[in-house]
Amino acid sequence: MKSLRTQIAAITLVSISLISGLVIWVSLQVYEGLYEDFVSEQLQSLSDNMAVDLLPYINDAPGSFSIVSVLLRLDEYENIEFAHVYNTQGMLVSSYMGDATSTAPFDNAGTHDVDEQNHLLSLDYGLYVTDGHIQIVKMIGNPELVQGKLILSYKIKNALSASRLDFTLSTLPFVLIILVLAVFVALELQRRSLLPLFKLIDQMRHIEKTKDYAVAVNIEGKSEIKALTSGFNSMMSDINQQTALVHQKNRLLTRQQEQMEKLANFDPLTGLPNRQFLMKSLRIELAKAKRSHSDVALLFLDLDGFKMVNDSFGHDVGDKLLCQIADEISKSLREGDIIGRLGGDEFVVILTDEPSLMKVEEIAHRLVVTLSTSRMVEQWKLETGVSIGIALAQDCSYNPATLISNADIAMYHAKRSGRSQYILFTRIMQDNNQRMIRIATSIYSALENNEFFLVYQPKVDATGKVKSVEALLRWYNPHFGMVSPGEFIPVAEQSDKISAITKWVVTQVCCDVPHILAQHGLDTTVSLNLSASDLQDEKLIQFALSSVEDLGRYARCIEFEITESAYLKNFQSGNSFFEQVRKIGCKIALDDFGTGYSSLSYLTEFNIDTLKIDQQFVSQIGKSERSELITVTIIKMAKNLNLTVCAEGVETLAQANFLLQHGCELLQGFYYGKPEPLEVSNNIELTL
Ligand code: C2E
Ligand code: MG
Ligand code: MG
Repeated sequence: MKSLRTQIAAITLVSISLISGLVIWVSLQVYEGLYEDFVSEQLQSLSDNMAVDLLPYINDAPGSFSIVSVLLRLDEYENIEFAHVYNTQGMLVSSYMGDATSTAPFDNAGTHDVDEQNHLLSLDYGLYVTDGHIQIVKMIGNPELVQGKLILSYKIKNALSASRLDFTLSTLPFVLIILVLAVFVALELQRRSLLPLFKLIDQMRHIEKTKDYAVAVNIEGKSEIKALTSGFNSMMSDINQQTALVHQKNRLLTRQQEQMEKLANFDPLTGLPNRQFLMKSLRIELAKAKRSHSDVALLFLDLDGFKMVNDSFGHDVGDKLLCQIADEISKSLREGDIIGRLGGDEFVVILTDEPSLMKVEEIAHRLVVTLSTSRMVEQWKLETGVSIGIALAQDCSYNPATLISNADIAMYHAKRSGRSQYILFTRIMQDNNQRMIRIATSIYSALENNEFFLVYQPKVDATGKVKSVEALLRWYNPHFGMVSPGEFIPVAEQSDKISAITKWVVTQVCCDVPHILAQHGLDTTVSLNLSASDLQDEKLIQFALSSVEDLGRYARCIEFEITESAYLKNFQSGNSFFEQVRKIGCKIALDDFGTGYSSLSYLTEFNIDTLKIDQQFVSQIGKSERSELITVTIIKMAKNLNLTVCAEGVETLAQANFLLQHGCELLQGFYYGKPEPLEVSNNIELTL
């Protein structure tokens, strides 16, 4: 691409050359005119003189020497074509042929042919300029006495071209010098006036390269360039401001992006990687391990008793505890091990670089020991523990989701088998888990298909009379066969389906009440079991209350059984529920007493009617003095607190005798009767 400078220079050169050419051409035209006038004047004078000189000899004989000698004076003049002298009769008296004579149309004597002569003779006196020739027709004599005629022809064409050449050659050097000077001056002037523009262009190129917009160009040059420069400066200042603003915004955005990335990848409470980041890291580590055929171990940690800390001491204490625990886990690990928080009280540790099983177990053991010690949070001494599930990548074909799920299953087993321990995932656990998943997904259809039914187990007094019956749920599924509540109730609790089951049980028990009362007497108690999560479900509580209220005066027959641990887990919501059911005359029994926290001191605060001694104590009667002692103590204490005592799982007469002997009022167990379906009689006369 040609530069602006070159283009302007070329335009200037062409313009000056054209103008110069035009000036030369006009000058030549003027010069030719002037030259023609000059030659005409000269010829006029010459012909005047000759006419005067010829006058004395005009009447001489043709070819007279005197006339010829006058005519021969024309030899001094170049470019004379011819000169003819005629007498008054029109006869050619003498003729002169000059150097510039053209060959035709002359006759042998060198004179013109007749036509030409006639033409020349017919011309009036005067000067004729035609096609490169000047012809003068001059009168010899005076107008009163015309003696003859002189016709002179001059070939101006030749003289003109010679003169033009001379003129051109003489003026050309000046013209060239002027031309060069003009070009130089024009270019210099242009350069000077365009200099600010070129400076501006250079500055723009510089800015283009450096991206430094904080520049200002000196305002100089002509007004247009001044306007351009000041416009450029103001544009640069705008761009500079905008760039500074953009930089500022970019910095802000980068900071926000960093914060968002941190928020997206890290847990704000503990600062540990969160689920998303963990999954990313896990995928990378598993891909690496898969390529090198090495193994990766994943530890799934769930704190024991954390919910209780949260419920009892508040979320602030819970949060601080989580931070301390996160810190302790980090400290127990090697550099390079990955640790993250999945949410709640769940943490994950990823051990890479093919750790040996021994090493993995050693780390898991260390974590269990470290996290099972008591620690101070604010003014509280907190006892927690941790259950850990371990899974290996090679057992799940390096699938990240399965690896976490396997470790979770193993952790669940660790929890179920006593907490504060670690368990390695096995395939049997997976099978169990799959069965659990199938059970969980079949619950709603089981309710729809009436696969659930109730059986009732009696509770008798010392005389053997049935004082109460407990509704126990059964599930027969065509695919699974009989599924025990010990299996499906925890699954339903975990999969948030327990409330649907409890609703069904409450409805069914309320339906059965008239039949039970008809069978065992109007003061028989009918108890049904509630789960821990039922106590948190306000809708369910309202449903249970209104269903029981619908029993009218027989509502007082209903007793709700809740396990000691479930009650402790939901102490406040439990108490509020108990208060409401008490108002409509229902009773509360604390189930499986002795298996949970067994905090006897709590009993004074418990708002209950009956205490059910767990069958694990009853089964030890006659076998373990220690268990017997505890059983006796529980009975005494319960009686002191005015609670009714019921023993579960009585299988022998000896157990029954022992319990009755120490004041136990109600006995429940296979010895007295297994849980059986209700005998429904069609003609009961009980009206609610
Ligand atoms: P639970 O409420 O403590 O019920 C007593 C369990 O002990 C029943 O087991 C009963 O069949 C069993 N049992 C009774 N007498 C004896 C005996 O002499 N020897 C032995 N070995 N066992 C005896 P089941 O029916 O399998 O229920 C297990 C647990 O499932 C119940 O313990 C209760 O916690 C839960 N459950 C049962 N039905 C329901 C229900 O409708 N709702 C809820 N939420 N839980 C239920
Ligand atoms: Mg029970
Ligand atoms: Mg029980």
